[in-house]
Formats: sequence, C-alpha cells, structure tokens
Amino acid sequence: MGIEINKENIGELIAKAFENREIKVYYQPKFNAVNGKIQGAEALARWQMSDGVMISPGMFIPLLEELGLIIDLDWYMFRETCRFISEELKAGRKMVPVSTNFSRFHAREPKFAERLCAVTDEFNVPRKYLEVEITESALAFEGVDIIDFVRSIKDAGFDISIDDFGSGLSSLNFVKDVPASVIKIDKSLLSGNCESEKERIVLEAIFEFAHRLNMITVAEGVETKEQLGFLRTCGCELIQGFLFAKPMPEDDFRKALMEKADVRETEDILLTQSPATATQLLLNAVFKAFPLVIMSNLTRNSFYMMAYDNFSTTSCPSTGVYTELIVHGASTMHPEDQKLFSDTFEINDQIAAYEKGERTRRVVTRQLGDDGIYRRVETTNYYMKNPNSEDILAITLSHALE
Ligand code: C2E
Ligand code: MG
Ligand code: MG
Repeated sequence: MGIEINKENIGELIAKAFENREIKVYYQPKFNAVNGKIQGAEALARWQMSDGVMISPGMFIPLLEELGLIIDLDWYMFRETCRFISEELKAGRKMVPVSTNFSRFHAREPKFAERLCAVTDEFNVPRKYLEVEITESALAFEGVDIIDFVRSIKDAGFDISIDDFGSGLSSLNFVKDVPASVIKIDKSLLSGNCESEKERIVLEAIFEFAHRLNMITVAEGVETKEQLGFLRTCGCELIQGFLFAKPMPEDDFRKALMEKADVRETEDILLTQSPATATQLLLNAVFKAFPLVIMSNLTRNSFYMMAYDNFSTTSCPSTGVYTELIVHGASTMHPEDQKLFSDTFEINDQIAAYEKGERTRRVVTRQLGDDGIYRRVETTNYYMKNPNSEDILAITLSHALE
C-alpha cells in the first residue's frame, strides 16, 4: 500500500480526498427475506486513493472519529447519496430507500435535523428515500438527550434505524424509548450457521421483541443459506449480507436495482408480511381458543394478562395484584356463582393444593357481558413451578362456552 494513514496526516489527506473525489459511496442492497427483491440499501464509505488502492472504513473511521472529523465524512456521504438518488429519480429509474450512517458526534450538532432537510430539499429528494442509521453506542452517548435528538430526525420525516443492535452495550431501554422504526441486527449475533441453540434463542427473542414493538428487522452479515433459513423462521424482513450482495459502486447498484428492485408502494412492510416467529404463531392459536390468558405468580400475588380480545366482560387492568384480580373477576359473575369463583381461585388454597399435587383446577360460572347478558364461561388454571425459582405459577385459560 502507498501512503500510510495515521493520526498526524489523516486530517490533511481526507480534506484532499473530498476535493479529489476519492471518497466513494458503495451501496449494499437490502433484500426482502422472502421474495429476494431489493427493498433498500445502505451507503458505505470507501476511500479510493490516488494510486487506486481501496481502503475500507474499518481503517479510517476510527481515526476520523477520534479526531472529530467523522462529521464531515457523514455529511459528504449523505450529500452524495442524495445526489445519486436525485439523478436516478430524474431519469425515471427505479429507486429504494437508502440509509446512511451518522456517527454519534452528530447528537451534539445543533440543528442536525434542519441540515438533513436542507440537503434533502436542495436535491429535491422525497424523504421516504432516506434513512438515518445510528448505532447503539451513539444512543448511549453521555451528556446529550439522545431521545430528543432522534425524535427531531423522525419529526423531520426521516426513518431511523438502530444499527449494530446486539454488538455493544445493552440498550434495550433506548430501543424502547427512541422512535426508530428499523432495527439492524448485528452480524456478530450470526456466528456460524445458527446451529447453536443458545444463539437461536437469543435471535428469536430479539425478533420477537422487535416485532412486538412494530419495528422492521434487518439482519446484517448474512453469508449462508442456513442463516437465511433460520432468519426466515424468525420473520426477519430484510437481509443485508454477502449471500445476496456485497457493497457495490453506483453503476453496479443501478444495474442491480433495474433487475431486482421492488418499488411497490409498501407504506408498511408489517402490514403485508406479518411476523411469524414460532412463539407468536403459537400464541395466536391459543388466543383463538382462549381469548383470555392470564399468567399469575401465586407465590408473589401478581398477574399479567396476555390477551383480552373481545372477551365479554368488563375491563380489568392487564397487570397487578392477583387477589384483587379475583375480587374483580367475582364481581362480574352471577350472584349465585360469586362464592364458587372466589373459593376456587383463593390464592392460599391454590398454593396448598399445588403442594399436595393438584395440577389443574376448572370451574364454569355465569359471567355478565358488556351487553348485559350472562354467559357460561369456563376458566381453567394450570399450575407449575418456575423452573428457576420456587415460585408457583398459574396459567389461566378462559373461554365462553356458548
Ligand atoms: P455498518 O454500518 O454496520 O455496515 C455494515 C458493514 O457490514 C459493512 O462494512 C458491510 O460491508 C459489512 N457486511 C455486510 N454484509 C456482510 C457479510 O455478509 N459479511 C461480512 N463479514 N460483512 C458484511 P464496511 O463497509 O466495512 O463498514 C464498516 C462500518 O464502518 C459500518 O458498519 C459503519 O459503522 C462504518 N461506516 C461505513 N461508512 C460510514 C459512513 O459514511 N459514516 C459513518 N459514520 N460510518 C460509516
Ligand atoms: Mg450501518
Ligand atoms: Mg451495522
């Protein structure tokens, strides 16, 4: 390799690189996991030095970050991406949303969202074609209200992706709070071919929680068919990885789009492709038979209601104190059935019965619906011990008999 890049010379070199257009935008397509169409792309920086040597971001981004110069690179990349999209749209060619990476330093940049809008408008690119990728570590940046930062970008009309999820510090709290619509699952979670059960459990849980938060999932670094197969069972929407395509220069990306772009107006991919994790499907089946499912911890006198869909009774909090739930439940029963209901589900009686070997308890009562009519309702409790503690749990399945 020609010149060695280091802390001392990178400032000067990068300034020249911008001038001489040595920084190239490579695009890596994101493919629909089911039909293999291109539905998005990520813009990735490449430095092609004057001697033709290509340097990957792993070599220069850490240095630029250290020196605070990364901000210039990100804006350069964003402008170039806007220019490309704008030219393609003007020429009437196919286009998909493209995400660009923004380092955590932008969180401290005043009027960041305004600047995004200004660049986008300058090139006349509709905002739906642009997405902002932010890493987990950026979300854990000290001294800045990152939630406000992300919200301002979202409010300006850009979708946010949480990049490299699962690679660094846990940021479940932020995922919960920031208005991001896409979560990119880091390639480090996809070691091997998903043969390890632990690895599969971790991934399944991530997809499950992302889907329950209505987020679109992108798996990064997918290299094998086996990985793809497993990701499909998790309901992963988009695949970004060498199995389908490597990051490529503009001209190749244009060709790829011509062949494989899916430019249907999919406002919300989740509407057309519902998440299909095994647990979600199983739960849906259970809810069909039992519209009311309650998980209770009798030892700790608490409950959590899993579904409460069209179940004919007056409303009830979805989580709280078990003994209060029983009092509330009894009050919705026919006066002649109230004692039967309260006695059956008396908490200490159930715990004592479990210790003696009882594993199920079933009762049929008349319950008053919102329409003022009593219906016969069957409520069954299944008892078990939490395998990780001594707590006695009850799973309640309830349904109307007619
Ligand atoms: P990233 O944003 O997570 O980008 C995905 C990286 O995974 C890219 O590496 C891509 O080439 C690589 N990748 C995709 N599929 C596969 C695969 O199947 N196998 C393997 N082994 N790798 C795959 P790349 O282009 O080297 O970029 C590395 C990181 O540098 C990016 O990770 C991003 O954090 C950063 N980066 C790149 N361009 C920019 C930029 O313009 N601004 C900022 N702030 N960061 C950038
Ligand atoms: Mg990225
Ligand atoms: Mg990533």
